Amino acid sequence: MFKCHICGNSITSNTPAKRIVLETREHVFPPRKKVHLIPEHKRSKKKTAPDYADDPGGKGTQIVREALVCPECAAKTRI
Ligand SMILES: [Zn+2]
Repeated sequence: MFKCHICGNSITSNTPAKRIVLETREHVFPPRKKVHLIPEHKRSKKKTAPDYADDPGGKGTQIVREALVCPECAAKTRI
């Protein structure tokens, strides 16, 4: 049981809540060294190569605000 953040109605139990994204922002992720574990079958047999790969970083989006809504409101807000 929850209260819809858009229409304000109390939703009965056994009704799944939906999360909708209200606001996002651009974000630049910095590069990180040795964070991805390379799978065993892709590693070099010689043990001279590292077991971890670097993450190059990059640009993406982050969620700033989201709302918990009922299925009807989620269907209305979907474009
Ligand atoms: Zn609603």
